[in-house]
Parts: sequence; structure tokens; C-alpha cells
Amino acid sequence: MAVDSPLQSRMVSATTSEKDVKALKFIEEMTRNPDSVQEKVLGEILTRNSNTEYLKRFDLNGVVDRKTFKSKVPVVTYEDLKPEIQRISNGDRSPILSSHPITEFLTSSGTSAGERKLMPTIEEDLDRRQLLYSLLMPVMNLYVPGLDKGKGLYFLFVKSESKTSGGLPARPVLTSYYKSDHFKRRPYDPYNVYTSPNEAILCSDSSQSMYAQMLCGLLMRHEVLRLGAVFASGLLRAISFLQNNWKELARDISTGTLSSRIFDPAIKNRMSKILTKPDQELAEFLVGVCSQENWEGIITKIWPNTKYLDVIVTGAMAQYIPTLEYYSGGLPMACTMYASSESYFGINLKPMCKPSEVSYTIMPNMAYFEFLPHNHDGDGAAEASLDETSLVELANVEVGKEYELVITTYAGLCRYRVGDILRVTGFHNSAPQFKFIRRKNVLLSIESDKTDEAELQKAVENASRLFAEQGTRVIEYTSYAETKTIPGHYVIYWELLGRDQSNALISEEVMAKCCLEMEESLNSVYRQSRVADNSIGPLEIRVVQNGTFEELMDYAISRGASINQYKVPRCVSFTPIMELLDSRVVSAHFSPSLPHWSPERRR
Ligand code: AMP
Repeated sequence: MAVDSPLQSRMVSATTSEKDVKALKFIEEMTRNPDSVQEKVLGEILTRNSNTEYLKRFDLNGVVDRKTFKSKVPVVTYEDLKPEIQRISNGDRSPILSSHPITEFLTSSGTSAGERKLMPTIEEDLDRRQLLYSLLMPVMNLYVPGLDKGKGLYFLFVKSESKTSGGLPARPVLTSYYKSDHFKRRPYDPYNVYTSPNEAILCSDSSQSMYAQMLCGLLMRHEVLRLGAVFASGLLRAISFLQNNWKELARDISTGTLSSRIFDPAIKNRMSKILTKPDQELAEFLVGVCSQENWEGIITKIWPNTKYLDVIVTGAMAQYIPTLEYYSGGLPMACTMYASSESYFGINLKPMCKPSEVSYTIMPNMAYFEFLPHNHDGDGAAEASLDETSLVELANVEVGKEYELVITTYAGLCRYRVGDILRVTGFHNSAPQFKFIRRKNVLLSIESDKTDEAELQKAVENASRLFAEQGTRVIEYTSYAETKTIPGHYVIYWELLGRDQSNALISEEVMAKCCLEMEESLNSVYRQSRVADNSIGPLEIRVVQNGTFEELMDYAISRGASINQYKVPRCVSFTPIMELLDSRVVSAHFSPSLPHWSPERRR
């Protein structure tokens, strides 16, 4: 192989195993001619799904070329496909979207009418996901040597799942993956040894799961070479769990017995083989480190051999970078992949780069990718000007431009708008690399929740009904994702106007009810995070003085905003604005209890 790509030159200097060479060669192959891989993928998808009800509608008549596909098949959103998805979920087994049977639905964290979106998936998709996973360590090994000499402490969890009325499982993609034989019966690989046993990962009680995973991580602290979770928020939750539970964990270690809070039989059984004897020295060490006020650098104190954190800190997760830096003493953060319930997309070929420089290379074999040039006039304007012929192919995107990702999958999504905005930063061989810019329409996000402007508006409306009789109104509001505390929570700033035009007085009791009413109005992913996962704290409303939002406008105008076009930002994060708002707060109120949530869908 000629040495002319950065990956290949690294391969030459690193000691690369045969398995890694194979994976790296595959990446080279895929990225050298992404256009022909894409043509092949589309041909395969259209050929195998030509008899589906969906594709038959567009009279492709067996033609599988891109030009015909682009001219006949419309670009769609989830709402457009909802009738088909509903029929499949109700049990219609005819080939509606896919000729291969839909084996389950993956519940996306994106929502439709307040409920999680259901993404169809087929059996073989598991192989595609696993293929992408299998590329991660070979790339990492080029940058960090010796990862086979120790273990990874990864906090991995399954979430609750349900069945659709037609009997198909509906669960998050990672729950589906961890419960599959692909994960459970994975062959031994020295580069992928985890401290967490499968029994702990697969326990659906997140508290027992976390306890057991943390305990194993502590017992094996010198072996841990990398530490991670899927998203940054998950890793911070683990740190917070340690803050709250280190005494109990240290007690287990000092006595060599497992806490009675662990009652899951599979975990108990497995832990009896891991926690076999008391370790007084380790227990004392932990008490010494954890009882200190200052937790700065705690990760490297407890796990001194950690070379990097493996967490996604791009997109909405970037808000956690400073906190992670604080706890880890500035360890590198590797963002290794970019994926979704609809399809896995790509990998980061320079995983040790700074978070701000992360670009993902889309693997052209995963699905058929198109790119809708993104209009900067705002999402609404882009929506109005959707020109289906303007979509660009993977190989033809231009550096510096932004696009919305549109995919066609083996499982039957055709020209489906994922909702992610990506910017092209460069190329690896001939494959473009993308920086994740943002999720369209998402205002607030703490973890996997995504709250849009319409949802926030509805929640404010519903809550303000609680004092409408009093003649008081919310005249302006904005919001903020507070992530300095763990778990993070939503903060909503309200400016109120009473009947007599003054700042209205609403009782603490009613304000607390307003907080809860807002939570009840938010989507099911938010409520699940609050109720089942405890990954979001109680919603807070901060009432600000009258005139605060006018000051906000003055500030924006002083910085060049047009007075005619000024709109109140419905979400803020810019420090001077936060400081202005916080300096005007007259009272703060929290949700007093949990909103309703159950794994079953509302409709
Ligand atoms: P879900 O459908 O719930 O699995 O969420 C998938 C979405 O999470 C993607 O469409 C992105 O918006 C976001 N996401 C996934 N991976 C990344 C990443 N590496 N960086 C930023 N955002 C990501």
C-alpha cells in the first residue's frame, strides 16, 4: 500500500496488529472512492426495497440510478413517514418501507408530538453498527499505544423498553446493541476489555448498575487506561454518583462484601467473583481522596493510569467540557464516533484532537447520504426554500459550507432529514469530514433530551394558566441549560406583568406548581430523564424584575442587533446576558416533585 494518507503514515510508524491493519485498510478503501461506494449502496437499497409499498409509489420501475432516485423520491421528515411507521408498529408485516422484516424500533431522542420517534431497523443493521465500532480501536491505537495492557472503565447502561401494539420491541439503539449477542458474546479482544461486567451493564435498574460498575472500576483502578461513557453527561453523572456513594463503596471494599442495595441476582453472582476479599489499603486510599473538599483532578487521582476520556463532547455536549476538565485535570477527551438511531454515520480519524477540532468522516458504506445546503436565515427560512434537487452527494460537498444531513437506509428510510447541521472541514482521501454544528430546532438539552422552541412555548403557556385568573401574565421568557450542577436542569427566566402593570406577586406554592406543570408539558425524553434516569434535576423558574427583557434588548442593540428584527432569544448562554438576567432575579422556584412518565407511549 502506498504511504500517502495521514492514516497510512501513522500506520507505518505505529506497531499495528494484523487485525488493525485490516480495519485501517478498510477505512482507506471506503474513503478513497466514496462516490462509487455510495452508488453501490443506493443501488443495493433500491434493488432490495423495490417491491416495498413506499418505493412503488414513486414509479422507479426498477431503475436504481441516482438521477432517477433524486427526481422521483421526495425528501421527507419523520412526520411524513408517521402513517407508515404507525402501521408497522401496529403489526402490519407487509413490506411497507423495507423488504427485510423490521425487527424492532429504535426510540430516538428526537420527538414527535411529545413522544420519542420510532426508527425502524432490520436484523443486519446490527452488523453495520458493529462494523463501525470495530474501526474505533484500530484508529485509537495509532495515537495511543499500549491500550491492550489494561482496561476501559466505561459506564454503559440499558434503558427501559416497551413493545409496540404490534409486538415489536421499542428501545434505544444502545440498549438494543448491549442486549444483542454481538455485544454479550463478543470475542475476547485485549484492546476492548472493560472493567464493567455484562451483568452490571445489562441490569435495567440504573442505580444498581452504576454501583456495580463503579465498584469494579475502583477495584481495578490501576488497570484502567481509559475512562468513558457515551456522552459527557453520563460520565459526569458517574462522578456525581461517586460523590454521593463513596463511603458505601469504600465500606464494601474494606469488608470484601457487597452492599445489600445490590439485589439483582446476576450482578450479585458476578460480583462474588470480583469482590473476593477485603482490601483495607484501597478502602483507606478512597476515603482519603474522596473526603477532601476539593475534587479537582479526582479522576487522575483515583485512576492514575488513565490516558484519555472517551466521551462525546461535541454538539450539545460541549457545555460539559469545563467540568470534565476540572475533574480530570485536563485529560484529553476523545470523541470517537457520530451516530444516531436512524443509522451510524462515521468516525473521528484524529480522536486525540481538541474537542473544538473534532471532525467526523462519514463511512460511505453505512447508508446513502445526501446533503441539503443549509440556509443561514434560520430554520424556518430553510424550510420554506427546500429545493429537492439542490441536495448534494457525499463526494460533492464543499469545504466551509454547512448542510443538513439526509439519509437513505437499508431499513427503509428514504431521503430522510436527520435534523443535524454539519460543516465540511476537509477531506480524508476523497471522503469529506464534518464538524457537528448543531441539531436543528433544539433549544435546550441536558442529556439526550432535546427541547425545541414550540415545546418550550407550550410549556410556558400551560404553566401560566395557573395564575391567569389573577390577571397576571408572563410577558417575556427565556431559558438556559444549567449544567454546572450535576445533574443539570432547565432554568426558565420569566418576566411577569400583573393587572396593575407592576411586577405581579405569585405565591411560592403556585410558582412551584408552575415549575411542575412546565415539566409535565415537556416531551417524554425529558420526563424519562427526570423520572427513570435521574439525569435531569428539577426545573427552575427565575422571576426577573420588570424591564429586564427591555434591558436585554438594549444590550443586543448596543452590540449591533437591528431594532426592527430583534427577537427575544428563547435560550441564552452568553455570559454577559446570563449575568444581566441573574442580577435581576427577584425569586427562584423549583419543581417540587417528579412529572409523570411511563415507558408506554401516550397514544
Ligand atoms: P438518537 O437518535 O437519540 O440516537 O440521537 C442521535 C443524535 O445525537 C444525532 O442525530 C446527533 O444530533 C446527536 N449526536 C450523535 N453523535 C454525536 C456526536 N458525536 N456529536 C454531536 N452530536 C451527536
